[in-house]
Amino acid sequence: MPSGKLHLAPLGGLGEFGMNCMALRWGNDIIVIDAGLMFPESELLGVDIVVPDITYLLEHRDKVRGIVLTHGHEDHIGGLPWVLSELKVPVFGTEFTLALVENKLDEHELLEDADLREIRAGNRFNLGPFTINPIQVTHSLVDCVALAIHTPLGVVIHTGDFKVDPTPTDNRLFDLHTFAEYGKEGNVLALLQDSTNAERRGYTPSERAVRGRFDEIFARADRRLFISCFSSSIHRIKLAIEMAREYKRKVALVGRSMSESTEIALDLGYLEVPEGTLIHPGQIKDFSPRQVCVLISGTQGEPMSALSRAAVDNHKHARIESGDTVVLSSRIIPGNEKGIYRMIDHLFRREADVIYEDGSTPPVHVSGHASQEELKLVMNLVKPKYLIPIHGEYRQMRLHADLARSMHGAVGQVLMMESGDVLEFDELGARKADRIPVGRICIDSGSRSDVVEDLVIKDRRHLSEDGFVLPIIAINKLTGTVESIPEIVMRGFAAGSEDGFMREARRLITVTLDGSTPEEKADIGIIKEKVRADLKRFIVKTTARRPLIMPVILEI
Ligand SMILES: [Zn+2]
Ligand SMILES: [Zn+2]
Repeated sequence: MPSGKLHLAPLGGLGEFGMNCMALRWGNDIIVIDAGLMFPESELLGVDIVVPDITYLLEHRDKVRGIVLTHGHEDHIGGLPWVLSELKVPVFGTEFTLALVENKLDEHELLEDADLREIRAGNRFNLGPFTINPIQVTHSLVDCVALAIHTPLGVVIHTGDFKVDPTPTDNRLFDLHTFAEYGKEGNVLALLQDSTNAERRGYTPSERAVRGRFDEIFARADRRLFISCFSSSIHRIKLAIEMAREYKRKVALVGRSMSESTEIALDLGYLEVPEGTLIHPGQIKDFSPRQVCVLISGTQGEPMSALSRAAVDNHKHARIESGDTVVLSSRIIPGNEKGIYRMIDHLFRREADVIYEDGSTPPVHVSGHASQEELKLVMNLVKPKYLIPIHGEYRQMRLHADLARSMHGAVGQVLMMESGDVLEFDELGARKADRIPVGRICIDSGSRSDVVEDLVIKDRRHLSEDGFVLPIIAINKLTGTVESIPEIVMRGFAAGSEDGFMREARRLITVTLDGSTPEEKADIGIIKEKVRADLKRFIVKTTARRPLIMPVILEI
């Protein structure tokens, strides 16, 4: 066995939800697996996305050979603009993943300088001292791979996100054979496996399970049908379009993310839509309500999303009326409950029939992550010397570890790691070696078109430089009227002419409030976001600075 040390260093995603990023190092070579983001919790209001601290990679920038992506979800690719703006390295991903990456980099004006290299399941490639074999897996997104990384000490298998779906809608099956072959060869040093659903017993239902429920819903709906799912859920979009055709409904795509990802899927042949099926959102009104199905983005109650706006009757094309059906075909991400239920309340107020995940069967949504039996299946096939739970909060990783410990014969040793731990392998075994700096970097991406500049304030720890602005607005809960002139508190932020600035900022907030419907005013989430967006535009324009803006709404 060669002498040398293999280091495994997770920069994010172990012990936290999202922001997946893992470094693998052998001597003077480092490869990075995934570069994800995390959506900010509501306490971090004023910040758009959260990405991992990559100090470790920057300290070793001459050693980093590339970033290899498992799939195109935001928690795996969302941090790329930030990482690539600091570190010019090639990015490897499957066709569909790279199409999403291209879009994202283009938005950030980073595409021209990017070195994107397509990989395919089953086609091995070399990167530094590693040979990497991408293995087809199934997940809620298409074109996802696990990575078998051949290192001098053995094979490290990183599952990415996966479930074992025997009937994926695109018929691209989970490649159990390749996993089994690695197990048979008996050379798997470590299996890094997705822990997201380690709490769930049994098997995760196939994506096809949703069809039964959609069938019921389509059969029953006698007016407009709105379906919202994650815009990346190509399987689900495909299903909705198929059902719409069966039930003779035209399909309109509403919301930027929904139309973008659908376009990519159409381009690459993951979706086939017969001519005449898709209509422009502006045409919705031209068809009778029972002839239309609207695919709309915004399952998580994001205040500015198309569905949130439609829910408060503030969307140009998507009008939800009494008797319409609204389907939330997605899970409720913990932390988003408030916003989602607030949106659902609005939808009920519009007298829509709202269908969301409530545990009933057939399910309106199925998870994309492996439950316990699937985790066991892969461990049994792969027979790793070491099993390391990844992708999950601590309890999920811990339950995954317990599950693995019960797998005598299949799994050698189980090791728990958290982001920032460095695991060292050599010919003698494995041990925790070191800690590296990790953390969350908050990015305020501001206007989407000029994000290169936004990256300038990549760090809210530099609050001291730009300070913060707190607009305080009192709204009468019953009438939705604004009770007094908005107050503005500022710290560490000085505008040229204080009085003039204050007056103008107050006026602006008043204009924003006046331009909002009573329903919007009754929704703190929406009103905060509107005030923040308008005020930010104004402050950036007049002062070229980017303070943290945190609207405070007092309901009286
Ligand atoms: Zn995923
Ligand atoms: Zn993920």
